[in-house]
Amino acid sequence: MATAGFLLREHVQNLLDALTAEGYHCVGPQVREGAIVYDTLHQAAELPWGWHDEQGPGRYRLDCDGSPRGFAWANGPQALKPFLFAPVDTLTIARRAADGALSFEAPVPHRGATAIIGARACDLAALQLQDRHFLQGLVSDPHYAARRADLFLVAVHCSHPAATCFCASTGDGPRAQQGFDIALGEMERGFLVSAGSAAGEGLVGRLPLRAVEAGLEDVLDADIAAAAAAQQRSLPACDLRATLFGNLHHPRWEETAGRCLSCGNCTAVCPSCFCYAESDEPALDGLSSEHTRRWDSCFTRGHSAIHGIVIRADTRQRYRQWLTHKLGSWHDQYGRSGCVGCGRCISWCPVGIDITEEAAALCGRDDG
Ligand code: SF4
Ligand code: SF4
Repeated sequence: MATAGFLLREHVQNLLDALTAEGYHCVGPQVREGAIVYDTLHQAAELPWGWHDEQGPGRYRLDCDGSPRGFAWANGPQALKPFLFAPVDTLTIARRAADGALSFEAPVPHRGATAIIGARACDLAALQLQDRHFLQGLVSDPHYAARRADLFLVAVHCSHPAATCFCASTGDGPRAQQGFDIALGEMERGFLVSAGSAAGEGLVGRLPLRAVEAGLEDVLDADIAAAAAAQQRSLPACDLRATLFGNLHHPRWEETAGRCLSCGNCTAVCPSCFCYAESDEPALDGLSSEHTRRWDSCFTRGHSAIHGIVIRADTRQRYRQWLTHKLGSWHDQYGRSGCVGCGRCISWCPVGIDITEEAAALCGRDDG
């Protein structure tokens, strides 16, 4: 992936203008109610220039120090997930005509071409996992596929990991390695730009890029290496799949369940979680009914209800289900762990349960 040129900070608006001219609806990170979230981006000035995040178990705070950088933060509660696997989707609509005849419609969303600016390496890795699940299984999900086909991704390499990040230990970051159309490396005066797809190359050709000064790429490499080295957490190097399934009765599950609220926050913010529930919502007039799909969580009672029996009735079983699937049986399904090291489940857990700490405890102790 060769560097195409250097984009001065004052020319970021040209990137948005070029994407808009190509028909893309631009979405980018912005500060909203104390968090950095993705929203429609009209102006480069709306990006979180000067903002930083401070994260820890059960903790997420922002502060602004007026630095010129727009991406000197790790991540917010969202990843790319909501843009592809929507929190609520109507899968089918049944209608009854006046003569009693039934008709069925399967609406497929068409949001139009969307460009997301600021995708992180961990989120691109999670997107690849969601692609495996929604596109490359026995059946391709038409809702996910429609949104995926319309997506243009502008990645930004991470240079400021949070204390909760551990993408270096999962091999997914902090450098964006795959799955983007354009990648940006933020420097003091602007961005090193590289293209990762034919669409990205076309877009890069429309930008007012400058020649890259000698040594600048080495500075970016050093910044990314420093971001990896600065990460304070990691997943243990043991065989987590074997360890977790070999310790299903480990006392740690009970200890953690004593703190866990079964709220499902961890699964909602996790960029790779994909559990959902389906339900029918009939109209009051009896003339139509919508079959909807909503995000669900393995922490809800209903998620393990089969024929009226709740299989995982207590929090210990639900937490164990989450961890053994995420770090264990995901290998059987998708050939790798389901964790990309973003750390969101640590920050957004109201009681600060830390997946790296839990994995380490289970690796370090054996109840036979
Ligand atoms: S399990 Fe936690 S750290 Fe891993 S990808 Fe999901 S939210 Fe991120
Ligand atoms: S681990 Fe934390 S975020 Fe997840 S269900 Fe339990 S309390 Fe909620």
